Amino acid sequence: MNLHEYQAKMLLSEYGIRVPPGKPVHSEKEASRVADELGGDAWVVKAQVHAGGRGKAGGVKLVHGKQQLDECVKKMLGARLVTRQSGLKGKPVNCVLIQSVSAIQSELYLGLLVDRNARRISVMASRAGGMDIEEVAAKEPEKIFSFRVDPLLGLQQYQSRQLGFSLKLDDKQRKQLVSILAGLYRLFTEKDLSLIEINPLIITSSGDLECLDAKISVEDNALFRQTTLENWRDPTQEDEKENRAKMHDLNYVALEGNIACMVNGAGLAMATMDIIKLHGGEPANFLDVGGGATKERVAEAFKLIASDEQVRAILVNIFGGIVRCDLIAEGIIAAIHEVNVNIPVVVRLQGTKVSEGKQLLDESGLKIVSTDDLTDAANRVVAVAKGDN
Ligand code: GDP
Ligand code: MN
Repeated sequence: MNLHEYQAKMLLSEYGIRVPPGKPVHSEKEASRVADELGGDAWVVKAQVHAGGRGKAGGVKLVHGKQQLDECVKKMLGARLVTRQSGLKGKPVNCVLIQSVSAIQSELYLGLLVDRNARRISVMASRAGGMDIEEVAAKEPEKIFSFRVDPLLGLQQYQSRQLGFSLKLDDKQRKQLVSILAGLYRLFTEKDLSLIEINPLIITSSGDLECLDAKISVEDNALFRQTTLENWRDPTQEDEKENRAKMHDLNYVALEGNIACMVNGAGLAMATMDIIKLHGGEPANFLDVGGGATKERVAEAFKLIASDEQVRAILVNIFGGIVRCDLIAEGIIAAIHEVNVNIPVVVRLQGTKVSEGKQLLDESGLKIVSTDDLTDAANRVVAVAKGDN
């Protein structure tokens, strides 16, 4: 689960890490009041969305005076912000952060993440901050410094100091880095995070380190014991279909293609996506309805994938091990009747009660192509999605 920048900054402050003064607001009036509180006659207005790259997309603006502030907040609130990370539809801006202006001398990158191969928390930093760190990693990997933390020893001061030398920080900044990293490491472990990204960590004109931006992801599997953070969830920033899927205990991930798939078992779901791609198609989603799927769950799942406007064809690939094929067929038929699906459906059923399942589909009078063979199913669904059929 991702947090908003303002929430991430609240956590940083709680752990004694310096961030620019600022507050989240939801209206122009509130913005004006916060600007008065902060003082000065210029502020930074930052759209609070779960996507990076806001700066280049017009989601971070420096404003001078109250009139500009008002105009900027009015324009941002209620709009959708499209950035290179937001997807084509963008993310709704329901909240903006009003922040005092920081004078920037240079921009650095600082990140903590879980290195799954090493089973350690890894710290990464670079002088090339403010920009896309993936691009730096690809083009100039020598500009990135990193080290891992031993979970038994915890973060050692010498590691942070060494990083400070690599980043060519002066004495004062090196000390500040040691203290920032100590706070970040404590935050990371105590709050069960999977990522902290400070991009940029700036050197201000007075030569101090300051966290200008902050991105935090919380490990989903730990949310049961991080209830405060769980309450900070903002469903408006998440995929509406993925949220619906969660409510019905379905494992669903939205993708960009136009062939929806409904499969039982994560492995079979991946294989199904692979075979669609192998035959020249693009999956619209990943969906695992689970081993013990009921008729109702299958119907929900089917309605969910069919509600995607991009979808041109649906492939159902079920292996009835625990689940029975006739129940699956009933679920599909119920869903098609309920929501009036006009999209071509290709069904491949195998396993328990397969003949009963197929009979139900055949007798339903619906336009469902039924097949036994997965390659054949993939070929057919790709063809209908392309309109060749
Ligand atoms: P992102 O584009 O979503 O990563 O948003 P950031 O918070 O990182 O802001 C993007 C860029 O805007 C930063 O890299 C800075 O160059 C600039 N910026 C943000 N806040 C300030 C500020 O207070 N003062 C100045 N001068 N620039 C800022
Ligand atoms: Mn940033």
